Amino acid sequence: MLYICATPIGNLKDITLRALEVLALSDIILCEDTRVSKNLLTHHHIKYKRLVALHEHNENEITEKVLNWLGEGLILTQISDAGTPGISDPGARLCSKVLAHGFKISPIPGACAYLSLLSVAGVHTQSLFYGFLPSNRSGRHKILNTWRSVDYAVCIYEAPHRILACVRDIFECLGPKCEIIMGRELTKQFETIKKCNIEELLEFIEKDPNQQRGELVLILYPTSKKADALMDSLSATQINTLNLLLQELPPKKAVTLTHKIVGGNKDILYNYVINLK
Ligand code: SAM
Repeated sequence: MLYICATPIGNLKDITLRALEVLALSDIILCEDTRVSKNLLTHHHIKYKRLVALHEHNENEITEKVLNWLGEGLILTQISDAGTPGISDPGARLCSKVLAHGFKISPIPGACAYLSLLSVAGVHTQSLFYGFLPSNRSGRHKILNTWRSVDYAVCIYEAPHRILACVRDIFECLGPKCEIIMGRELTKQFETIKKCNIEELLEFIEKDPNQQRGELVLILYPTSKKADALMDSLSATQINTLNLLLQELPPKKAVTLTHKIVGGNKDILYNYVINLK
């Protein structure tokens, strides 16, 4: 059996009872940085049997060994430095090989940085997890431009030394009104959660260098761009008529009448009204 086990993203208490049990009974714990994992195991008084480093540079090589160990009937657990393995962390190649060889694999769920932020984000739309954007500007722009008219939120991870450049690129590609929530140092002493538009976030982190430190997750919801694009497709006459009728009539009637008098797609007219609210 191979367990894929989540560990804390900052606060060492954020670990499940099941994770502690599984770590204690494992014959081998596969971890990214043995120093980081030793710290966690020692903190929880776990007398582990054996730690083996598995990181992005040796994942293929260690996976071959894992297949042999599983064949011998050993219990293995993979952890990463923080959060859930396989989420912008090593583990995908290991899991696909282990599954392909027919061994049992089981998740021990727990902390994950983007899910933690999403849980407090108050985002009503569906969301997608992207992970790290490319480290160069043109690569970031290429990806960000594909999100110009999406109507779902996107979760991204970013390194502290790139956060300013990344937020500037979001500003350039998705516009100042793109809404965003930043989670910094979640579950740690200097936890910061900031929900605003991209223009305000840029000002916030430019003014305070502390906001460019630590671990960061961002959730963007570029819906305003979409609403702007929709509104752009309405003529001034349609907007003026609708605004006028809205002063006297409920939204549905105002939309129907505007459509009858000066035309315009009813859905877009209705979206305009929702956006006004
Ligand atoms: N596997 C991890 C998870 O489940 O979230 C993510 C690992 S990825 C290599 C590390 C990135 O996750 C960081 O650069 C940061 O973007 C995000 N992250 C990790 N811990 C965080 C925290 N406490 N607060 C905010 N973001 C965090």
